[in-house]
Amino acid sequence: MGSRKKLLLGNWKMHKLRKDVPAFMESLLANIGDKNSWSQKLNFGFGVPATLFDVALSTTKNTGVKILAQNCHFEEQGAFTGELSCAMLQECGLHGSIIGHSERRQYYAETNTYVGKKWNSLALKGLLPVICVGESKIEREQNKTFDVVRQQIDDALLQVSEDARKCEFVIAYEPVWAIGTGLTATPEMAQDVHKFIRNELSKHFGATRSGTISILYGGSMNAANAKELLAMPDIDGGLIGGASLKPDEFAKIIKAAL
Ligand code: PEP
Repeated sequence: MGSRKKLLLGNWKMHKLRKDVPAFMESLLANIGDKNSWSQKLNFGFGVPATLFDVALSTTKNTGVKILAQNCHFEEQGAFTGELSCAMLQECGLHGSIIGHSERRQYYAETNTYVGKKWNSLALKGLLPVICVGESKIEREQNKTFDVVRQQIDDALLQVSEDARKCEFVIAYEPVWAIGTGLTATPEMAQDVHKFIRNELSKHFGATRSGTISILYGGSMNAANAKELLAMPDIDGGLIGGASLKPDEFAKIIKAAL
């Protein structure tokens, strides 16, 4: 198993206005101390709405905090009203983008194929793709979790070129039934799926590379349950929605990961 630094990513979804960001970052950074106290052990950042890209980047300059988008389009440019290309995200100075979040799959009909095309485009622009996968409640009840997750990864990878496959990426396992519901997978349940994902990745990328890929857990992670989840061998961090909106709560999760 390779050495994997913990990674905590907040997903702000459609929350916060520009005026909220400086105070949030100031409070968070004051709480956790400068990057010498945490950067050896973990990385962290936020997927923010596009209206906040510049203010989030400027208020975190030189702090080590990563700023990501929550979505992107896979085409370089074109007639795609309302969309943002990876070139645009790159030009803004972002670190990467969350893609395939279950809310986008559910409300915007995003398919595994679309997610794969986005993965490919982000990687080729030098941006970090954070690929969300996970089963619904019904799929879990029908014991289809592994099949669903395998299909999400395999279908997406069909769209990812050889060059793009060489680039770093992160998988976020997010059981849909645990997102924003207060229900969390137990550490053992999550570990089972993370181990399965790592094994699947080793079929595509080999065991050595698979041991270096970060697999995050997402689904009602908070200050109270983070430590136990993050202690599991294949849980390399978290994708955190609700609990990333308050600086003191997010700071507690960072401290739990240290
Ligand atoms: C998410 O949005 O990816 C998420 C995991 O949300 P929450 O932490 O609120 O369940």
